[in-house]
Amino acid sequence: MALMLSGTGVSRGVAIGPCQILRHDEPEILEYAIPRPLLMDEVARFEAAIKKAKQQLKQIRQQIPAGTSPEIIAFIDAHLLMVEDEVLSHAPVKLIKRLQCNAEWALKSQRDALVTVFDVMDDPYLKTRRDDVDHVVNRIQRILLSQSEHMHEVLLQQTRGSVIVTDELSPADMLLMHQRGVAAFITEDGAANSHTAILARSLGIPTVVGAHHACRCLMQNEPLIVDGRYGITIASPDDNALSFYQSCIEHDKARAIALKKLEKLPAVSRDGCAVRLMVNLELTEEVAAARQLDVDGIGLFRTEMLFLNRTEPPDEEEQYQLYAKLVRAFKGRPVTIRTLDIGADKYMNIDQLDEYLGANPALGLRAIRLCLKEPRLFLPQLRAILRVSALGKVRMMVPMLSNMHEVQQLQRLVMMSKAVLREKGQSFDAAMPVGAMIEVPAAAIAAEYFARQLDFLSIGTNDLIQYTLAVDRMDANVGYLYDPLHPAVLHLIHMIIEAGARSSTPVSMCGEMAGDPRFTALLLGMGLREFSMHATTLSEVKGVINDSDVALFTQQVSALLKLHDPAEIAAAVEALNQY
Ligand code: PEP
Ligand code: MG
Repeated sequence: MALMLSGTGVSRGVAIGPCQILRHDEPEILEYAIPRPLLMDEVARFEAAIKKAKQQLKQIRQQIPAGTSPEIIAFIDAHLLMVEDEVLSHAPVKLIKRLQCNAEWALKSQRDALVTVFDVMDDPYLKTRRDDVDHVVNRIQRILLSQSEHMHEVLLQQTRGSVIVTDELSPADMLLMHQRGVAAFITEDGAANSHTAILARSLGIPTVVGAHHACRCLMQNEPLIVDGRYGITIASPDDNALSFYQSCIEHDKARAIALKKLEKLPAVSRDGCAVRLMVNLELTEEVAAARQLDVDGIGLFRTEMLFLNRTEPPDEEEQYQLYAKLVRAFKGRPVTIRTLDIGADKYMNIDQLDEYLGANPALGLRAIRLCLKEPRLFLPQLRAILRVSALGKVRMMVPMLSNMHEVQQLQRLVMMSKAVLREKGQSFDAAMPVGAMIEVPAAAIAAEYFARQLDFLSIGTNDLIQYTLAVDRMDANVGYLYDPLHPAVLHLIHMIIEAGARSSTPVSMCGEMAGDPRFTALLLGMGLREFSMHATTLSEVKGVINDSDVALFTQQVSALLKLHDPAEIAAAVEALNQY
């Protein structure tokens, strides 16, 4: 029988594929007594689970595709050794017999004893082995409980065309799975503006987040339809649903072809107002496709993706080579490289940085704060960006600036980096523009000071909304409060645009609002003339721009900005969109 689940659609499109469940949380283990005559059967059940765990790991080891990172291979080898070790394969047998308990409980008791030993060790490396014990124990527990498999197993299995259903998903895992040809994602947690959701949009993979209890309600391998527009998942669909959604997929393809026709036209409103449209990129793999687009440049390149899924940060040369690819591909057009924005949901697996993980990472040492604290991380990036400025029109953009002291420190580090390059005889553009992302309310209110000290501003609405409304952009529980049309948000955006105009400093927007056609008329009316967004939304936004009357929107928006009632604001935006 068909089952429908709802969540929040964060990346449009429809996909149909088999369900592949992937849970990160630990299985719940209950203790129960085993009657003495059945004890040897329980031991046999445990030994069969150990054997199966070994087989699974060996099979994964054999099937590792060429090019898989050595860390994943080492990870599996370590697990194989562990599953064969006496402490996991024999000690629980003794416990089953002695305590007359079930195999799961015996294994859990042994795990708890082992973990206590790891916890008192001083060596941070050995401490991390505790996680490996947990991974191996969970694998065996899942076999005992007949539950679905482990993350890296799913990664190494045939995931092409399947729908991953999971409790939570980091951007790093999404990237890995995307490389394996996953058709769609459903997560129990997550919110529309988390970095995972943004990445899903940029990869163009249908994704639904906040689908509560999906892992429990859906079954391994059953066919699923994922509708990323409306956040709907249909399990074991009937023929009617299947044919309806097949036709949606066809319709989407036809629409994409129609929108493609707009690609070559300039973005100019009916009353002759020219608008610059740029793209947001996160992966150098996206460059080839983006180069084909008729855009005015790259408005945001999120460099942090280069730092994920590795234990050492990329050095200056590696970064230089990657950024050079972008700049060469966009020859003659501006390329805005954003400095590292690590922290919050973009966690970097680099040991030395663990000490900075505060209790509240979104308000902690994130982005420029971390970079100023860790020049070892920041300076190679500054030099790499400066060096590629010799190859084309490069702009450097800095996230999360919140005060002028940070701007001064940044400027000093840029000067220092230039001096180092000069000394080494390496060329760079001495006038490379340096700009600020305005995404903290304090910076929005003081935007004019930033505008006077820097070469350009770019509005990061994703964080600006989060910090203005005190709504964690990743927390589905407060997703209903994440409102781009909140009057406070609209006023801040307007203030930034006006501050730019007063100081003749260019202002663009690279947050998700810029790529949402529902807000295009509103932003044009506020005076925004430069938008940066995922390539997937460019044509739609251009369609709205080319149909608009900016002079009329400007008048209507100045009236709209006086409103405070959410319903009235929504109606006024709707009226603009009906134009
Ligand atoms: C933003 O905050 O709007 C933004 C573009 O940056 P990110 O989503 O990477 O935090
Ligand atoms: Mg941001």
